[in-house]
Amino acid sequence: MPSIGLLVFSWEIPSLLSTPMLFAVQPSATAFLKHEYLNEYVFMVQARGIQIRENVKNIGAQVLEQVVRGAYSINGTDYSYDFNFSESNALPTTYLPEGFTYLPSQVCPERLPSMKGRLEVNMSEISLEEVERSLLEGKPNIAPGGYWKPTDCLPRWKVAILVPFRNRHEHLPILLRHLVPVLQKQRLHFAFYIIEQAGTEPFNRAMLFNVGYKEAMKDLNWDCLIFHDVDHLMENDRNYYGCTDMPRHFAVKLDKYSYMLPYNEFFGGVSGLMVKQFKKINGFPNAFWGWGGEDDDLWNRVQFANYTVSRPQGDLGRYMSIPHHHRGEVQFLGRYSLLRHSKERQKVDGLNNLNYSPLVSRRPLYTNITVSLSRKLAPITDY
Ligand code: BGC
Repeated sequence: MPSIGLLVFSWEIPSLLSTPMLFAVQPSATAFLKHEYLNEYVFMVQARGIQIRENVKNIGAQVLEQVVRGAYSINGTDYSYDFNFSESNALPTTYLPEGFTYLPSQVCPERLPSMKGRLEVNMSEISLEEVERSLLEGKPNIAPGGYWKPTDCLPRWKVAILVPFRNRHEHLPILLRHLVPVLQKQRLHFAFYIIEQAGTEPFNRAMLFNVGYKEAMKDLNWDCLIFHDVDHLMENDRNYYGCTDMPRHFAVKLDKYSYMLPYNEFFGGVSGLMVKQFKKINGFPNAFWGWGGEDDDLWNRVQFANYTVSRPQGDLGRYMSIPHHHRGEVQFLGRYSLLRHSKERQKVDGLNNLNYSPLVSRRPLYTNITVSLSRKLAPITDY
């Protein structure tokens, strides 16, 4: 059994990530992690991780993730170490030239000249009113609720941007200031839905997405859903927020994970599904209370429905995340045991067992859906 101190210390050397030494530790660590004190171990190691330098800490957490995942399997198949990107072999994309014209009667191109590539990311704080003023001034074409569609071509996708939210008031204006102009340049028909969790239960990101989906569909016949964390800012406006024939993972390279995919099945941060795909997988699970695991469960659902996740190529999927402290958010340590039963739970936990009473209000740039969540709103006999 490796000593905890030694294991953590070894993660402080990022270069080990690419050496076989790291993987040499794994089998014995895996055996140890099957131990009944798994959760305590995870917790201790993660607590210890806080003391490690910021960037190295995050790499370490992802290595732990691989070790823990190695101890579990879905359908008898272990999680792999395959860091393939689905579009990594795709040919370089070509964008339409400056001055290219298209007609209002034509479907908007997907690779517009207005999509220039690398974006500047501005994380300075700003009030919501200020952002509303600057985005709406002289441009009355954003309707209350944040609905926008192009007038110079027919939008290819009707996209609902769903953002789960609690207690991050300074992040929301930063996201809107950054993303609204990008979506306009991408000529998408879009609106933002901020789904705000009230009450004292742990944060349930996945259930908020389910609520957001149901409410958004009452508004308009959206055909594409983007599940977006409030603190994620894309670095490239060619990361197109339309859907694809496969579920898509957009946030592939995050600064907080040193711009590496932390593990092949990572599906967090920003992802997107067509409405018909989302319905088919019964939405997100409702059973994940606290931080972590719900995105992994979504990944499993997508696999069980025989989809293959697509990802933007190269650096298009780079994101910066607004630094913050996890304010009272609890980590969901039970996620690994829930993930072992993703398949059975998929049929009974999701869009089909969800009840809630929302409070809906329209702001100039988004619709706010406030909802108090509790376990009894998504009944299921055995979590
Ligand atoms: C969690 C995921 C999270 C990932 C990356 C995993 O432990 O289960 O929800 O996205 O770590 O932070």
